[in-house]
Amino acid sequence: MLTSLKGKSVVVTGASKGIGKGIARVFARSGANVMVVARNARQARVAAKELGQSASAFGADVTKLEDMEKMAKAAARKNGGIDVLCANAGIFPQAKIEDMSPEQWDEVLATNLKGTFLAVKACLPYLKKSDAGRIVITSSITGPITGFPGWTHYGASKSGQLGFIRTASIELAKYGITVNAVMPGNIVTEGLEGLGADYLKTMAASIPLKRLGSVEDIGYAALFLASKEAGYITGQTIVVDGGQILPESLEALNA
Ligand code: NAP
Repeated sequence: MLTSLKGKSVVVTGASKGIGKGIARVFARSGANVMVVARNARQARVAAKELGQSASAFGADVTKLEDMEKMAKAAARKNGGIDVLCANAGIFPQAKIEDMSPEQWDEVLATNLKGTFLAVKACLPYLKKSDAGRIVITSSITGPITGFPGWTHYGASKSGQLGFIRTASIELAKYGITVNAVMPGNIVTEGLEGLGADYLKTMAASIPLKRLGSVEDIGYAALFLASKEAGYITGQTIVVDGGQILPESLEALNA
């Protein structure tokens, strides 16, 4: 059994819905004091309320250093420091190269990649003071391992996060802070559910475990990486995808 995270201070960016909310829920259930962060402060408050009294909310944009610094300060003040940062906020608008504007490219990189850096930078002074600082980044299989038309910018941002963790883990090792990433496959979120049951069934058919992932599947991987027991793991990744990336062909999938 993993040592309880009871009383630990956890910041989750992009936690008003989707995977971030699932991560926040898993940490809150394990007794941590979670700060739910999203640009829409009202939605963040609604999500935090669902998680219970130990959760709080903060409205902030990961693309702005000033917002991230205010967020970190608020979390430290409310929960007595910061032990865990889950840098999860991300966007995934689709546009093929021929149609994509430089501004669309910049927006995705600014949120997914620069946003990761800014959240880490702002939380760092507090993570350094923790006796077991942990950074868990939500990357993706899309980019580092797989591709999907319309997601060159997204794939580049998600691969970039993995480049980031490899050097960040070395830089921050002297503070006892670990830096790791979770790489989700297809996860059922509010947005995906809107695509309808038939679409979800087709997607599930391409996955060896024959189901899409749940937001909690990602939450448990993040919880493990944040645990005391994962203290010797840094600069690493965990793919959580039901085996989606494994089959070499349709024959391999259906054999
Ligand atoms: P989602 O349901 O759309 O939720 C995104 C969350 O991020 C929301 O809370 C949103 O709230 C917040 N957010 C977006 N831009 C932000 C910004 N600039 N500053 C602060 N918060 C921001 O997305 P999701 O599917 O859960 O994805 C979450 C993460 O998982 C992303 O990094 C994504 O790349 C990764 N991922 C998802 C899947 C999947 O299948 N869903 C698969 C692989 C990886 P506001 O809009 O109010 O800011």
